[in-house]
Amino acid sequence: MVKVGICDPISEEGIQLLKAKGLEVVDLTSVPKEKLQEHVGDLDAIVVRSATKVRKDIIDSAKKLKVIGRAGVGLDNIDVDYAKSKGIAVINTPDATSISVAELTIGLILAVMRKISFGDREIRKGSWPKKKCKGIEMYGKVLGVIGIGRIGREVAKRARAFGMRVIYYDIYRLPQNMEEELGVEYMELDDLVSIADVVSLHLPLTEETRHLIDKSILEKMKEGSILINAARGGIVDEDALYEALQSGKLYGAALDVYEVEPLKESKLFELDNVVLTPHIGAQTREGQRRAGVEIAKKVAELLIS
Ligand code: NAD
Repeated sequence: MVKVGICDPISEEGIQLLKAKGLEVVDLTSVPKEKLQEHVGDLDAIVVRSATKVRKDIIDSAKKLKVIGRAGVGLDNIDVDYAKSKGIAVINTPDATSISVAELTIGLILAVMRKISFGDREIRKGSWPKKKCKGIEMYGKVLGVIGIGRIGREVAKRARAFGMRVIYYDIYRLPQNMEEELGVEYMELDDLVSIADVVSLHLPLTEETRHLIDKSILEKMKEGSILINAARGGIVDEDALYEALQSGKLYGAALDVYEVEPLKESKLFELDNVVLTPHIGAQTREGQRRAGVEIAKKVAELLIS
């Protein structure tokens, strides 16, 4: 029987779909990660989310492996080149969670602008910081989207509904009809950061984008603006961000992703004008269900064809 090992939890619908296709599902979710290698020898496919690292050791132990399925987008936890060199297909579900990440982004913008996390924290301590919680509206402000791919576009649509003007920077400019349809204007990076009230990052972490948002870009950002990173840790230089937040150059920031995850200690913890979430962009019922079903469909298709 063709075997699929599930290394990180995926939705029950995804599991049922694999079984319905006649595949044997091996639940490896409770196997300690350092022991996983001992359980992959006879698997035809493995399915992971972000927790399992599929490096050379696992790939070498999985003698029958044909497919590595990632329920989600980022492939940073998989040694893709090595897998491909062994003829193993690596697939993911890039569309499944775009709406979840876009909605979180809007939530983070609002949380910073309206000081939602700060107010909540203070109330629990017994204070009533109404005056300190005076915020700003999204309406009429300029959103600068850096990276106008799947998520960036969904963010742009939602920001437009809040009455924001949306400008964007990307290495690929959108066709004019798409710019018109989305209601977005292209700008070079330096111009975008100098005009935007909110800069939101939606591009991958690559050699070119590592520390794209560094001291020099932060200095070019508009006084009192806001930075949101729900893309990948490492795109923002967190030390430089700390300085920009502490000096008052930025009104605030929100991060869902970090240079080192999980984030256990950070100077950012000292600051009230930063909202931190534990990499939850894709973490919704609907997003995870979609990702589970999509990856199951794709894995089954590759194994059965
Ligand atoms: P996508 O590939 O659809 O879009 C990325 C965009 O970035 C593309 O338009 C691309 O041209 C652009 N880009 C690439 N390099 C660039 C550069 N150097 N300068 C400017 N633009 C550049 O990706 P997506 O699905 O929209 O995902 C965007 C980001 O969100 C990724 O980093 C992804 O890993 C991240 N993400 C985060 C979460 C989360 O949980 N927070 C969940 C899913 C995805």
